[in-house]
Amino acid sequence: MVDERPNRVVVIDDDQATIRLLKRQLEAAGYEVATFADARSSMESIIELGTGIVISDWEMPDMNGLELCEAVRGLEQMQAVQQIYFILLTAQSGKDHVIQGLDGGANDILAKPYHQGELLARIKVGERMLRLQDELLQRNVEVQKANAQMALLARRLDEQAKTDALTGLSNRRFLFQRLANIWKQTRQSESPLSCIMLDIDHFKKVNDTYGHAAGDHVLRKVSTLIRQAARRPDLCGRFGGEEFAVLCPGMNASAAAQVAEQIRVAVSAEPIDCDGMQVPVTISSGTAEICDRITEAEELIKAADTMLYAAKTNGRNCVWVLSAGSEGVQFDPHNAPELSSSVAGA
Ligand code: GH3
Ligand code: MG
Ligand code: MG
Ligand code: MG
Repeated sequence: MVDERPNRVVVIDDDQATIRLLKRQLEAAGYEVATFADARSSMESIIELGTGIVISDWEMPDMNGLELCEAVRGLEQMQAVQQIYFILLTAQSGKDHVIQGLDGGANDILAKPYHQGELLARIKVGERMLRLQDELLQRNVEVQKANAQMALLARRLDEQAKTDALTGLSNRRFLFQRLANIWKQTRQSESPLSCIMLDIDHFKKVNDTYGHAAGDHVLRKVSTLIRQAARRPDLCGRFGGEEFAVLCPGMNASAAAQVAEQIRVAVSAEPIDCDGMQVPVTISSGTAEICDRITEAEELIKAADTMLYAAKTNGRNCVWVLSAGSEGVQFDPHNAPELSSSVAGA
């Protein structure tokens, strides 16, 4: 980089007297000078320089100065070097010659015999340009870094906006948002869609008996059990306080009721350990599937909620289900109707 090695110059000339002169003058001006008698052997040193000043004679046998300059520009494009400020020295005069050199990629052209003071001044111009370019590059990197951080932050905020902070499940707002999309897709493909509503039984008592922190722990544990029972395409959300919803695309009511039953059994199987306290928990649930009577997305939630209410008023710790042909019945896992082919992926 320019800041690390500001005073390094690579000089190429097939004339030994010129090389000696340039080396002496540049070293006297404080530069560290690497000299080469031909273009090809200078390439490695230019690559090592990475960013800096190269002064090359134009007229040389084999590879001339302009060809070297073109090769260096190629290296820049391949990012083998960063930025080379290339000054050509030429014994020829004439504007056409100057134009050809600049068109070929040289930054500057000086006629031989050159004026020492002018050469040093032109080197300084080059250094200034390299420094500015380096600063621009740094700033670009910083802007890109800031952009990446912003994108990350935006993604996190987006996640947070969709997620319930306590349980990590989808929040109510996101549930409704997704429901609208899932509803549309389901209607188009005419595939089934079910909704499970779940509510912890006598949760107020859990809080009153074991404390609010234990209540929070129960909510988290129940959320985990819900997530474990759900399939990958299902959307699990916290609907409100101690109420949850699972949207099950492609699933009929019977299959969804089995998922609800699985959750019910998992929750009630053993007390939940809250900091050493054993808290017995049960959950009631209602399940409904899209049918002729349900013509809007919110009606599906409402129907599942009605079934949840039925579960509550019929003893709690049970699953009620509303399917196409029924008004609602308690789900009996030992007498479950056959699963339809629509849940083959479950
Ligand atoms: P039911 O069986 O009829 O559903 O009775 P319930 O006690 O579960 O229902 P109720 O609606 O009377 O009480 C719900 C309780 O849930 C009251 C409220 O304090 C508690 N709750 C809601 N959100 C949270 C929460 O984030 N953390 C804790 N610890 N408690 C909560
Ligand atoms: Mg020459
Ligand atoms: Mg409750
Ligand atoms: Mg409730």
